[in-house]
Amino acid sequence: MAETLFSRIIRGEIPCDKVYEDERALAFRDINPQAPVHVLVIPKEEIEDISQAPFGNGILDHLFKVAIRIAEQEGISEGGYRLVINKGPNGGQSVDHLHIHLLGGRRLTWPPG
Ligand code: AMP
Repeated sequence: MAETLFSRIIRGEIPCDKVYEDERALAFRDINPQAPVHVLVIPKEEIEDISQAPFGNGILDHLFKVAIRIAEQEGISEGGYRLVINKGPNGGQSVDHLHIHLLGGRRLTWPPG
């Protein structure tokens, strides 16, 4: 896959507002937040989108666990939140590096546009 700006963020070449980091995952605040809390949780390994994600090696479990933990840290767990993965142009994916959006801190509408 072609490298994206998220690879450069992982390497520290582009700054981010980091919320969490470990050896497999990085989480940082979205530059264009759509809710009071809008955090992106990404794998450090380059995975283009959810259809390319390896099942069985634990990375998806880990990313979701990180997202849930951040929601608790951000104080939005009780009120509720939304986890979103966009895939491809019709899904609204603009960065071709798998990421989970964690959105919360306000009442979100449904369905999305
Ligand atoms: P998606 O549209 O699902 O691919 O989500 C990509 C997200 O990355 C968008 O919500 C952008 O606002 C966000 N984004 C793009 N560049 C940056 C950046 N440099 N730092 C933080 N978030 C970014």
